[in-house]
Amino acid sequence: HLTLVWFRDDLRVDDHEALTAARTEGRAIGLWIRESRGENGLGPRQLGGAARWWTHESLRVLETELARLGIPLLFAAGSAADIVPQAAADLKVDAVRWSRRYAPAARRLDEQIKTDLAEAGREVHSHTGALLVEPWTVSPQGGDFYKVFTPYFNAVRDRSVGDVLPAPQKQNSLTKADRQTLDWHSWVRDLNGLGLLDGTDTGSDSFASARTPQWWRTTVAEHWNPGCREAARELADLSEGVDGYADSHDVPADPDSTSGLSPRLRFGELSPRQLLAAALNLPELSDDDRHAWIRQLYWREFSWHLTYHLPHVESEPVRPEFARFPYEDDPEALRHWHDGTTGIPLVDAGMAQLWQTGWMHNRVRMAAASFLTKNLLIPWWHGEQWFWDTLVDADEANNPVSWQWVAGCGADAAPYFRIFNPERQRERFDPNSEYVSRWLGHGPGGVSQAERSHGVCEPIVDLKASREAALAAYDRMKSEA
Ligand code: FAD
Repeated sequence: HLTLVWFRDDLRVDDHEALTAARTEGRAIGLWIRESRGENGLGPRQLGGAARWWTHESLRVLETELARLGIPLLFAAGSAADIVPQAAADLKVDAVRWSRRYAPAARRLDEQIKTDLAEAGREVHSHTGALLVEPWTVSPQGGDFYKVFTPYFNAVRDRSVGDVLPAPQKQNSLTKADRQTLDWHSWVRDLNGLGLLDGTDTGSDSFASARTPQWWRTTVAEHWNPGCREAARELADLSEGVDGYADSHDVPADPDSTSGLSPRLRFGELSPRQLLAAALNLPELSDDDRHAWIRQLYWREFSWHLTYHLPHVESEPVRPEFARFPYEDDPEALRHWHDGTTGIPLVDAGMAQLWQTGWMHNRVRMAAASFLTKNLLIPWWHGEQWFWDTLVDADEANNPVSWQWVAGCGADAAPYFRIFNPERQRERFDPNSEYVSRWLGHGPGGVSQAERSHGVCEPIVDLKASREAALAAYDRMKSEA
């Protein structure tokens, strides 16, 4: 019995239900496709620059890890609707399996592929893997889905999520003849042939994309070691990021204030079930730290719950009245924000951390996003797109949902008038300016601290006046109802 396991956002071999099921029944062949969204708009969102680099590196590791298990990993690029049925036919597999994904446009594509495969007489099975709680398995009384986190969390927090699965047993390596059959097909590429590290085909003219290939491979690569092997090591050291979490998760200067595992979750190098089990079983953690951190895992679940139920969360406000919000078109201010030259130290330091490392501390993400959408009145989706291109954890659910939350138009968003003051945030969470001094001057705009103290980078807006302008814009939106 031969099964094709289609890998997507699950680049691991441990706790992988589809892979385990394939090996229980017989032999497995892996496939990963660099998918392009078809004209019908179905499929996953196109990967941003940082994510393409991460994916390339992570696939290299997955290929090696699967090879250790005797399982080949094939690569292809193009429309999954064409490639998956073609691969299943060419390889004469009995079954196709994958881990489910949850963004509406990707799900519709998967349904279509499932139907095509079944019509061609193949077994098709999808499995859980990316989430603890599949979005359709929980709903409030009298409603379709939860729009507020706390009742959602209370409804799902005590659910059993099953046991973590070990990696499957090694299978007999393929014969030379099998290998030749695999290499023969026209859709098969090698990893480099996927073009994940080419900067020419992003379809985006953003500054980040223009500088992508070299940038990610040199500078950002200093901060990360993608792939499920390193992820497993980080899992073993989980207590470093979780110990003290309840008190210190908001301190951006401390690299251990949070786990730093978001890209591992994003690419499925670790499953949320592995993380939950690890956090529950670390004896050295206090219950406060343990539960505060586990709660964050469920924020990610909640983002997916919303994204599953809201088909256009990356472009349409959850609260429809915000479609009328009087945002401003200010390319120069947007460029200052991208470059980290707004003159607001916490925002500029955050944008520099993002530029240098592909990651930004959550507290600073909130401050930078609030500054863009409220003090500069720039539409949230411009910031969301920049993050999408530059974050190594850029996630189809967490990114737009968090942006909408900060911009005030999301589900469960804080009231609009609670506008972050980035100077107060800095005094509170970076009182010794440790974070700000570390990063200032390292953004794409590169204004050093010395230049700043000579007034090269004056604040581009007055925080008080721009706050009042934001409140006035909000009132205008409401009065037009
Ligand atoms: P930890 O604090 O160690 O938390 C563990 C895990 O819980 C994280 O890896 C993450 O998966 C989840 N988590 C933590 N905080 C949140 C949160 N507020 N919302 C949802 N899930 C959370 N997160 C992404 O994974 N991808 C994104 O693209 C993304 N974009 C964001 C954009 C904005 C404007 C904001 C304000 C937040 C965004 N977040 C995003 C949420 C959060 O900032 C990151 O998940 C977190 O900083 C990751 O760091 P960590 O792994 O050390 O988190």
